[in-house]
Amino acid sequence: MTSAIAKIIVIPMRINPKNLLLTMPLFIYNPIKKYLNPFISDFFLIVMRDQFWLEQRLQQIWELLYHDTPKQNTVRIRFKGRWKNKFGHIKRLPNKDTEIVINGLFKSEFIPEYVVDLTIAHEVAHYAHGFHSPLPQLFKHPHKGGVVNRELRKRGFGHLLRKEKYFMKQEWPVLYEKLREL
Ligand SMILES: [Zn+2]
Repeated sequence: MTSAIAKIIVIPMRINPKNLLLTMPLFIYNPIKKYLNPFISDFFLIVMRDQFWLEQRLQQIWELLYHDTPKQNTVRIRFKGRWKNKFGHIKRLPNKDTEIVINGLFKSEFIPEYVVDLTIAHEVAHYAHGFHSPLPQLFKHPHKGGVVNRELRKRGFGHLLRKEKYFMKQEWPVLYEKLREL
C-alpha cells in the first residue's frame, strides 16, 4: 500500500509547550525550523492525513481485502469528531449513499496507520453484512456474536486485531489526552 500523502501543519509551540512533539525526519524539520525561526520562536510539526489519503485508503482496503463485497451504492468516507470511545461509524444517508466516519483525531500520524486501516475495515465489514448498505442483511445485530471481528480475522486482520487491543488499552488513553489539546 502507498505511504501517506499528507499536509504539514505548523503549530506554534506557545499554544502548549508541554506537548513538544516531533514526527518529522530532522532533515525536513531543520530547514523549516530555520526558515520559521524569525517568525515563531519555537514550534512543532505534525503530519496530518487528509481527505485524499483517507479515500485512497478505503479504496485500497476494499480492492485488496473486500474484493468479493460488491459496492452497490456510493460509499463516502470522512474524518469527523474527536471521540474517546468511538473510532468510527457507518450510516446510511437520506440520499441512500453510505457514509463511513473515522475519528477526526486519527488525522494525526501519531495514530498508527494500522489503527485507521482496522477502523475502515471494521466499517466495511458492517457494509458487507448488510448494515447501512443495500446488501442483504446477514445478521440480526451488527456486533452480536463477534461477527465483525470474525469477518476481520477471515480477511487477514487477526494479528492487527491483537495489536489494536494493546493499543486501545495502553497507548490510546495517553495519545487521546495529547491530541485533544492540540
Ligand atoms: Zn461496529
